Amino acid sequence: MSKDDTDYVVKLERAIKKKYGQETIQNPKSSWSDEKEQKYLEDLKEVSRRKAQQNEKAEKVETDGFLVSKQLLTPRGRSRVCPVCSVYSFEMKDDLYMNKFECCFQCYVKWVEDREERWISGWRPDKEE
Ligand SMILES: [Zn+2]
Repeated sequence: MSKDDTDYVVKLERAIKKKYGQETIQNPKSSWSDEKEQKYLEDLKEVSRRKAQQNEKAEKVETDGFLVSKQLLTPRGRSRVCPVCSVYSFEMKDDLYMNKFECCFQCYVKWVEDREERWISGWRPDKEE
């Protein structure tokens, strides 16, 4: 997320507050017209759209050199199968290690623990083992 985008959203929110007044926003019924309400909602939509864009950008993760939206990988799209031992798991514990080391907890204990550098450098055990 670039700083400009963040600033823009903050400015936009501030502008909306200024435009409609703090009181109006807190108590819309008091000085609200349909037209004003419509415009206000549109402005709010613009802000949330901007925010969503930012989140999307922030959520992008690099996978094999491609930027992939994190939503595609989590939670439903993420592989539940350990690429090392092919175990299928829904456990939180495995999830955590799968995210961090691309293997299940069992494999972490067996292959990664105390040898993290080797693992991170790309070493993997032979499939037969
Ligand atoms: Zn495994």
